[in-house]
Amino acid sequence: MLAAALLTAPIVLVIERLTHRPLHPIAVAIGATLLSVLVLRRLGGLVTALDRLRIEERAARSEAETTQRLLAEQNERLREADRLKDEFVALISHDLRTPLTSIIGYVELTLDQDGLNDEQRTYLEIVARNSERLLHLVNDLLFVARLEAGELELKPNELDLAAIARQSVDEAQPRAEAKGIDLSCEIEPVGVIRADRGRMFQLLDNLLSNAIKFTPEGGRVAVQVTEREPGVRLTVSDSGIGIPEGDRKRLFDRFFRAASAVDRQIPGTGLGLYIARAIVEAHGGTISLDGTPASGSTFMVELPFARAVAETKLELVT
Ligand code: ADP
Repeated sequence: MLAAALLTAPIVLVIERLTHRPLHPIAVAIGATLLSVLVLRRLGGLVTALDRLRIEERAARSEAETTQRLLAEQNERLREADRLKDEFVALISHDLRTPLTSIIGYVELTLDQDGLNDEQRTYLEIVARNSERLLHLVNDLLFVARLEAGELELKPNELDLAAIARQSVDEAQPRAEAKGIDLSCEIEPVGVIRADRGRMFQLLDNLLSNAIKFTPEGGRVAVQVTEREPGVRLTVSDSGIGIPEGDRKRLFDRFFRAASAVDRQIPGTGLGLYIARAIVEAHGGTISLDGTPASGSTFMVELPFARAVAETKLELVT
């Protein structure tokens, strides 16, 4: 009421000045009362609206908290499912390795024997080839499962990458020759690196196998090892089918295969480059694809000299 009286006082003054007549006190009191009722009703409406907003906000917040909790539970379940999947893959791969190794061994023994006719030899060679492919796949799956579980160990030693590259090229030569591919290497003497020998052969084998696989008959594959401070640079280039621009970013992702490989139905799992990157990064190095080849593909690996990593503990990063 006091507020209404205060509000109406200047209005009454203005009206009196304009009309040059004093206003009747009862009329002023009625006007002030009406005004105060209106103000009170408006205030009441505002308070109710505020309360409603507060209730809605509380409901929205509790809904958001429930959604967040459900999301966290779902994430936890997904992580658990992922872990179980990796454990399952590791278990199966491990159990498949023993019989497969035995099959490969006995097929080789049989192939070494005299008295096989051409047909029998061809069949056994097919069994041997496919068993090798299966073993390769099982090993890759096992590697990835261990990597994801953080259980992969490296046995680092000082070694000469040039010698490893030379040996890998020699071993890949029959595969290249079978496709009429000119496989060459240009290797300089380089400083020692500190790395796991087996993993370095695996890295080279992955890059070389891809280069041969994705290069049509009569093409070229070249391996180069040079010193590039502060380490050794390995490049594997080919004159093959190349990699479409849009696929380059995801090339090192697990199970990723570029459209150029899928369209041509060239077999593969999409694990080779993922494994290659894990190996290189675990050794403190980098792996990349040359972004501007005129044709074909060029992969470049850079690994630090042993002295640069002597103090650092090597570990696999996932
Ligand atoms: P894959 O088992 O398919 O060879 P990788 O992980 O080794 O799997 O390679 C992933 C994909 O990268 C391949 O499917 C292919 O599309 C592409 N790629 C890798 N190396 C080459 C290469 N030298 N030339 C062309 N494409 C390649």
